[in-house]
Amino acid sequence: MDEIKPCICCHNACLAMSHYKGVANACSMADSIHMSRCALNPMTMDGGKYDIKPAKKPKKVAVIGGGIGGMEVAIVATMRGHKVTIYEKTDKLGGVFIAAAAPKFKEKDRALIEWERRKVAALGIEVKFNTEVTDLKSLDADEIVVATGSKPKRLNIKGIENSIEAVDYLLGKKVGENVVVIGGGLSGCEIAYDLHLQGKKPVIVEAQNDLMISNGLCMANSSYLKDYFKTNKVPVYLETFCQEIQKGKVVLKTKEGVKEVKADSVITAIGYNPAPIAKAGRHVHLVGDAYEVGNLRTVIWRAWEIAEKI
Ligand SMILES: Cc1cc2nc3c(=O)[nH]c(=O)nc-3n(C[C@H](O)[C@H](O)[C@H](O)COP(=O)(O)OP(=O)(O)OC[C@H]3O[C@@H](n4cnc5c(N)ncnc54)[C@H](O)[C@@H]3O)c2cc1C
Ligand code: SF4
Repeated sequence: MDEIKPCICCHNACLAMSHYKGVANACSMADSIHMSRCALNPMTMDGGKYDIKPAKKPKKVAVIGGGIGGMEVAIVATMRGHKVTIYEKTDKLGGVFIAAAAPKFKEKDRALIEWERRKVAALGIEVKFNTEVTDLKSLDADEIVVATGSKPKRLNIKGIENSIEAVDYLLGKKVGENVVVIGGGLSGCEIAYDLHLQGKKPVIVEAQNDLMISNGLCMANSSYLKDYFKTNKVPVYLETFCQEIQKGKVVLKTKEGVKEVKADSVITAIGYNPAPIAKAGRHVHLVGDAYEVGNLRTVIWRAWEIAEKI
């Protein structure tokens, strides 16, 4: 039972067809090739492309970063017969998905992290914790995989230093009663949902004209959150920009004009930029958010592609 990779209910590959402005399946038809598959198991319905075959020549592989991307590369490469070492700068495997999995309702994501950690241990993959790699030349490896993740984007507005970044909140930073969440993508919306479940009063501020505008995001998941906000009267400001964070409030530029909203705390969830520590090369491969910021579907499918070609 422990060997079965847990489904995380993301629907990012088995059902994914995103919507936009309440219109179902407005996402490109090309995205339908991602349906009836699985974000976590690339071989599902695509065993021709994704297959774990023994390596022609076993090599030494260094994986920098022990997030989901790094662990997946390490697992598949080891199963192919390579000798893999993971270098992780913190004392834990899981990367940013530890924060992503922190809300109470994301217990399946936590089960996935445990599965990945168990698999790394069961395969005897060497993990060097508390080891930050700064120079690739220091590694004794034939192939290097850079899976160092991403960095949060920052808003250039007055008072931004008084805000909390989404990941810091998810990892335990305390917030007050009235919380303004800047960014209505999936992370911001899940944070607002989490706050509301705790009895707090979230307000969502989004620059675009709808919440969770993102190709490949399943309608079942996003429409549930939208309906929840509507039913529970969680204020959502669309086409609105936060101009300034002041003590106890934020200043918003809405379609109707400037408005002040009470805010004991402000959380920013406005996205991430790739943060690879090196460029790709003949024997250097980028994986995960370090390659392109995405979700577990994009991270895991690419991890397999790289692990199968080295
Ligand atoms: C708030 C939030 C919620 C999300 N929710 C979902 C979701 O519900 N579903 C979904 O599919 N996706 C979700 N995502 C996206 C998903 O979590 C990421 O795409 C994925 O976890 C990225 O994995 P990664 O391995 O590429 O990078 P990371 O998880 O960022 O891992 C990078 C690792 O590299 C280590 N590292 C960095 N530099 C060095 C160095 N120089 N030397 C050694 N180690 C280093 C870091 O410590 C870290 O452990 C969410 C993301 C966020 C931020
Ligand atoms: S794509 Fe996501 S929801 Fe669908 S089976 Fe895979 S893990 Fe489960």
